[in-house]
Amino acid sequence: MKALSNRIAGVAPSATIEISDIAKKMIREGIDVISLSIGEPDFDTPQHIKDACIEALRRGETHYVPSSGIPELVQAIAEKIRRENGFDCTPSQVIATCGAKHAIYLAMQAVLNPKDEVILIDPAWVSYEPCVQMAGGRVVHFPMNPRTFQVDDSIQDRITPRTKMILLNSPSNPAGTVMERHSLQLVADLCEDYDLFALSDEIYEKLVYGREHISFASVGDMAQRTITVNGFSKSFAMTGWRLGYAVAPPEVTRQMLTVQQHSVTHPTSFAMWGGVAALRGDQDTVEMMRREFDERRTYLLEALRGMGYAVAPADGAFYAFIDVKGDDVAVARHWLMQGHVAVTPGTAFYAPGWVRLSYATALPYLKEAVRRIYLLRTGSS
Ligand code: PMP
Ligand code: GLU
Repeated sequence: MKALSNRIAGVAPSATIEISDIAKKMIREGIDVISLSIGEPDFDTPQHIKDACIEALRRGETHYVPSSGIPELVQAIAEKIRRENGFDCTPSQVIATCGAKHAIYLAMQAVLNPKDEVILIDPAWVSYEPCVQMAGGRVVHFPMNPRTFQVDDSIQDRITPRTKMILLNSPSNPAGTVMERHSLQLVADLCEDYDLFALSDEIYEKLVYGREHISFASVGDMAQRTITVNGFSKSFAMTGWRLGYAVAPPEVTRQMLTVQQHSVTHPTSFAMWGGVAALRGDQDTVEMMRREFDERRTYLLEALRGMGYAVAPADGAFYAFIDVKGDDVAVARHWLMQGHVAVTPGTAFYAPGWVRLSYATALPYLKEAVRRIYLLRTGSS
């Protein structure tokens, strides 16, 4: 066999998905594993969203549709952005995608040339760097300030003549932190001064606890250079639907659309009707889920702190990111093999020494996971 693509051979598989697959396999083998490894809401998709999809199927909405998405969804996204995110948006800027993940992939393909650099703020989610690499670009890492978990002005030192984009993710996966306005302003000033694009992944925007989510594109003139990525997986518990979207300057959206047309054509037609119902329908379920996450968060943070762990400011998303002061991969392996609790080591997010626990799991399971971690920690199991 001839050699396969070097471009892909150099890309690491997804650690979040691999660990969750190992946990699932152990569960299939009859082992009582509690998985706090994957960021996936445990709630069912709200009924009115499912109904809208089923009705679309019944109506026969089973054929090709416009490649940027059904006009009803594109319009609903543009309205949602104007209503909730504080910047202007026309339908020509919107593209519906197969999950937020594919929006990020399309954005990198649309914007990057070989060797272009993207500044990534660590700790960062596992799929950003592979998306940059698959587009031929290179990631330049910048660690968040370890005391404040915000960006400080030393980020400027990472800018080179090849820098094309800064990637933001607030609320953050895996840190659970929310960027404050002064951090966003600092990044906005750099984008302006050095003529950079920004990609702002706001998929956890609805999951904030006592904090305000600020869309990066609403800061100054940033809408003119920002690709805002969002989706339905987290806010509406729709992970399996594979539905997300991006809003970008029209030239960028057009290039993303070219890649979409030649790869997936468009997201599944009837799934998009579920997306319309999610955005236009009752938002009570979103708030119900947020409250439930908040309750779990309060419990988990107190339990972890009680065991002596330092936890990053968990103001958003559904992750507790804790300092295990040692070999995080060994700790995660120990917890899985001996305690049957699956978590994701911080190394996967460029933060060795830390471990991510997802609290998108019901309270009784969280309590049992805490009990097992406590037993391992005190050496009494
Ligand atoms: N961005 C972040 C930060 C995430 O945690 C996820 C979760 N998978 C995604 C994007 C992608 O979400 P999806 O493709 O399911 O919309
Ligand atoms: N975003 C989630 C996580 O970080 C889902 C898995 C993935 O797509 O990486 O666990």
